Amino acid sequence: MSELRGVGIGLGVAQGPVVRMTEALPAPDDSPSTAGADAERARAREAVATVARELTARGEAAGGAAQEVLEAQAMIAEDPTLQDEVDARIDGGATAEWAVHDAFAGFRATLEAVGGYLGERAADLDDIAQRVLARLRGVDAPGVPNPGHPFVLVARDLAPADTALLDLDQVLALITTDGGPTSHTAILAREKGIVAIVGASEGTALTTGETVIVDAAAGVVTREPSTEALARAAERAAARRSAVDSPATPGALADGTPIALLANLGKPADAADAVARGAEGVGLFRTEFLFLSASQAPTVAQQRESYRELLAAFPGRKVVVRMLDAGADKPLAFLNDAHEENPALGLRGLRALRASEDILREQLTALAEADAETDADLWVMAPMVATVEETVYFTGLAREYGLKTAGVMVEVPSSALLADRVLAHADFASIGTNDLTQYTMAADRLLGSVASFQDPWHPAVLRLVREVGAAGARLGKPVGICGEAAADPLLAVVLVGLGATSLSMAPSALADVRRALSERTASDALSLAEAALDADDASSARTAVATLAAALPPHQKETTS
Ligand code: PEP
Ligand code: MG
Repeated sequence: MSELRGVGIGLGVAQGPVVRMTEALPAPDDSPSTAGADAERARAREAVATVARELTARGEAAGGAAQEVLEAQAMIAEDPTLQDEVDARIDGGATAEWAVHDAFAGFRATLEAVGGYLGERAADLDDIAQRVLARLRGVDAPGVPNPGHPFVLVARDLAPADTALLDLDQVLALITTDGGPTSHTAILAREKGIVAIVGASEGTALTTGETVIVDAAAGVVTREPSTEALARAAERAAARRSAVDSPATPGALADGTPIALLANLGKPADAADAVARGAEGVGLFRTEFLFLSASQAPTVAQQRESYRELLAAFPGRKVVVRMLDAGADKPLAFLNDAHEENPALGLRGLRALRASEDILREQLTALAEADAETDADLWVMAPMVATVEETVYFTGLAREYGLKTAGVMVEVPSSALLADRVLAHADFASIGTNDLTQYTMAADRLLGSVASFQDPWHPAVLRLVREVGAAGARLGKPVGICGEAAADPLLAVVLVGLGATSLSMAPSALADVRRALSERTASDALSLAEAALDADDASSARTAVATLAAALPPHQKETTS
């Protein structure tokens, strides 16, 4: 047996024969067109329009996040600037094939240079270009093979169009050699519950036909597995299926310590799915998502209606609503449209709200009115709180409106370091690990070139979480986690060991996190947290915790691992 490693998505395990993804089409040559510019332009237009139509249709068939991704791809395919670039090359004598290949490559380089979110979309362009080329050549687009039996798909990376429509009866697991935990492939795999390991760079050695075990929980692919290893993996897979299918119980450690498992939501319409997946309430409702496209502040009546719909879905349950969080990755022109050199360090979050206090007051009014009409347990919190003074300001204002539970998000190291002072005034803290990591590591979370720093496993981030957890325990105040870190099952246990009393995440992550918690006692969680805190960097923290977790004695509830 030999092993190769990558970043596992979720806790799944699967086994089966490898089938490698069909390789990319060869690049066209740049010999001049013999058909003439008009004919080439018409061919290019037809191919692009067909591919855009196909992507939209695939999106409609898939629904959910996949639909959004595929519709965005269809729009990129038909981007007028890109079409002008294709036309310019054709006017210069190129074939439609070469014009598409070259124009898309140029656009890709531009996106990569911009970096951040747009940089991450560069790979999507390759997929669109390949689809258009295949159409022009009259051949099948490269994509997911169909060997006629279930298989473990191995690919460099998957295009969103392919991930979205993976036939889950055929694809037992997915291994990519490129891509990281925030790539589209990872996001969609998480949403669809596909057993996946991404960024397994040594996966290039895997060959079609060989049998492997894909252990996402450990981030390990086992080659030439023994009969015993295959049997153990099959047992674990069956146990996990039954755990995911069984009715959701409240989050708790193996020793019974309750850890509420809550949902991160951006719109009230997603509440039903969260409830169906066993969310015990909402740990983060991102109100700005309701208004990202608005050019003006929403009215009190519009807001009240949205909040009422959200709260009505959680009678008797905790619902934590975050005040509008404008700036940097979530621009809201009506709160701050100033050009800032460093928007992540600018007038954002509570700072922007304070500068437009009428908007903050309107939001609190709408929330208080919706609260009066519903039975949920409404908690409100402010984003990007950096000082004790800001804490006093926000909690005081919220109470003025009769909102009884007012807290702050800990996303800036200053408020983590002063957590005891902050929690002396706030009713609770909710740690936003996405921004806390960004500010601790001084790495813009939108910038691809520094993405490797944006890892919440970093012991520096975890030490700050410990500060907040310890202060919460001393003062008897709840400390939740609502950043992406809470959705990582192994890290979730560590966060509990650092003092988190609830975890909030995308609803699709709930089942795996619930199971990971149920396998560990509070004392395990403490030991795992210590192992992470003692590491030098994020990757050694992850490895140290995974190694210790594998060595810890099994617990009663651990029959499934
Ligand atoms: C965070 O920063 O971790 C967080 C939950 O807030 P957002 O991702 O919306 O900035
Ligand atoms: Mg944040």
